[in-house]
Amino acid sequence: MASGDLEVEYKKLVKEISECRQCELYKYRKNPVPGEGPLNTPIMLIGEAPGKQEDETGRPFVGAAGKLLTKLLEEAGIGRKNVYITNVLKCRPPSNRDPKPEEVEACSPYLRQQIKLIKPKMIVCLGRHSAKLIFSWAGIPWTNMKRQHGQVYEGVIEGLKVKIVATYHPAAALYNPQLRKELEEDFLKVIGPLAKQILEGKIETTKRTTLLDFLRGKG
Ligand code: SF4
Repeated sequence: MASGDLEVEYKKLVKEISECRQCELYKYRKNPVPGEGPLNTPIMLIGEAPGKQEDETGRPFVGAAGKLLTKLLEEAGIGRKNVYITNVLKCRPPSNRDPKPEEVEACSPYLRQQIKLIKPKMIVCLGRHSAKLIFSWAGIPWTNMKRQHGQVYEGVIEGLKVKIVATYHPAAALYNPQLRKELEEDFLKVIGPLAKQILEGKIETTKRTTLLDFLRGKG
């Protein structure tokens, strides 16, 4: 898709999200939080849902957890400006409660559309809600974060080959030194090195898996 078309399609999606009433969360939001970052990046980070400050500003990961995420990205040598950041839910659940399954289902088409437009080569799932959803879309078994964080998986989502890494949500690590240590290690040892290779074009370009590729065993 030409970059002009991509921006037009993306703006349409943002407008749809801003007018969305597909689940009851629209009643509580001050601002929807579609996501932010360059549309041509190969790296996409997916969290759970906006919190208070995100709801007030319309931007993802701008509160305390966001500051930690920005630090992790900088220290891992990726840089926040080089990645696209979004959440499973685009509107804030009251009192930051867990997303309900029906809300995840209602909001999922927007995330699928973001993946289709951005075509990431790597998805980082921040927290179990994001990991559970993305792993299920990629057809990868998901057990729990303790077992599966910091490992690189490969799957196909929306016809795109993508590397997937799950790690803890920065909010969970804010007041838990052990989780914070594991989160920092995931970024420094796994997410950072892989993302840098992808950003530098050292890893094979993502492509759509066609039926012909599949029949030739390249899918
Ligand atoms: S959370 Fe998603 S589905 Fe629910 S109102 Fe907001 S944009 Fe729509």
